[in-house]
Amino acid sequence: MKFPAVGDIATRAVSALNINDTMIQALEMMLEDGHRNIIVIDVPNYRLLNVMDIIKIKNDTTSLQLKLKELNLPLVRTINKHKNVLDTLEFINEKVECFCVVNNDNSLYGLIAQSDIMANIDPDTLMENYRLQDFFKIGRKVKNVTKEKTISELLSEMISGNHDNVVVLENNQPIGILTTKDVMKIIKNKENLDLSVSVYMSSPVETIHKNSSIKQAIYFIKDKHYKRVIVVNDDGTFVGVITQKELISLTYSRWATLMKEYQVELTEINSMLENKNKEYEVMASTDALTGLYNRYKFSELYVSSYTSMVQRKNHMSLIMLDIDFFKKVNDSYGHNIGDKALIQVSHTLLRTVRNIDIISRWGGEEFIVLLPTVDLTQAVKLADKIRVNIYNQEIDVIGHVSVSIGVSEVYEGEVMQDAIKRADEALYLAKKSGRNCVKSEKDL
Ligand code: GH3
Ligand code: MG
Ligand code: MG
Repeated sequence: MKFPAVGDIATRAVSALNINDTMIQALEMMLEDGHRNIIVIDVPNYRLLNVMDIIKIKNDTTSLQLKLKELNLPLVRTINKHKNVLDTLEFINEKVECFCVVNNDNSLYGLIAQSDIMANIDPDTLMENYRLQDFFKIGRKVKNVTKEKTISELLSEMISGNHDNVVVLENNQPIGILTTKDVMKIIKNKENLDLSVSVYMSSPVETIHKNSSIKQAIYFIKDKHYKRVIVVNDDGTFVGVITQKELISLTYSRWATLMKEYQVELTEINSMLENKNKEYEVMASTDALTGLYNRYKFSELYVSSYTSMVQRKNHMSLIMLDIDFFKKVNDSYGHNIGDKALIQVSHTLLRTVRNIDIISRWGGEEFIVLLPTVDLTQAVKLADKIRVNIYNQEIDVIGHVSVSIGVSEVYEGEVMQDAIKRADEALYLAKKSGRNCVKSEKDL
């Protein structure tokens, strides 16, 4: 599974100041850039100035003259831009909002929010590591009321704020919940709208701690058959509400986009591999010098030819061919000239036989030809044609070479080695009979 590098998903638009700059400069920069955070460069470290730091001192004019180095700002962790988002997983439980993304020389490249990292890892990891409280950092609007509020008051607020549910609080702790569905029922039943919400709310409510992971929240909702979950702090005070749909879309939306991008890449890799495979297949099935099939490929093709021979009740024959006195050729003219002669002989072979015949380089100066649909008599004729064509061929430097040929027919029920053995024996006979001739299994 491929995940992006930190640099790929980092924000490049970063507001940065030097540690010797002042708070007033920071304030101006934040207003101008509209950023919540400013990176403060304190070589070799980076510190973070948050919008809250400024808001806290906004009414104190002397504080605005302070230099940033006097504020004891927190250090921000740096991550090399080439690191994979997965490599940053170890940090994401730390209570930091963002990290500085740096170039190899530690200069500032950009900024990455913890939520960006979360959004770029697989949903399972995301669900396990993403805390509910992180979700609320995004600043969601949640409606809550006290139990004394009347239904009619609530109704107008629900409509104006477009809230589909309202949490009822007492001492800041959730004690009940009212959904639009409940309100509809109240209206339908013509209930008294001047009664307080506490009369109609579902109570008590079950809550989940803000430190719970999204995965826990999803299971919680599933187990209880709820549609939403109320999130609370350590002391039971209200944090917010998350629906099941929100939880799932939060984890999967980014994941889906990532997968789409990945799919494109995957298709490209696949077609590349396919081409490579074809290349390797050719390499594995042919002889490098002549381009003819090698033994391995010949055996494979023999099997399919044999099968169709049996099925169609055809004949099939084999020709085994060996160049005469080839050792002398090498000795007299050198190996390179010998190689060229082998290539030229293979060309003559190709040109002499039919397209459906299968030619293979069996060994050094030895070739084998499989002739589907051909019986022994026809094969002997073709073998002699081959012998004559090769003998008549003008070969560079050398002049002429002759070949000896053995021919056999392939019979149903025997294996390839049986037919080859008879062709080999016929070839041996041809050599013994003075070379430059054709012998068949009939002559044995
Ligand atoms: P015969 O008529 O009995 O077949 O004699 P020969 O010399 O052809 O037979 P032998 O089997 O003794 O020698 C075959 C020679 O073929 C030996 C080797 O030098 C040569 N040879 C085998 N493979 C190659 C090759 O790839 N390139 C070249 N140039 N020569 C090869
Ligand atoms: Mg030879
Ligand atoms: Mg030989």
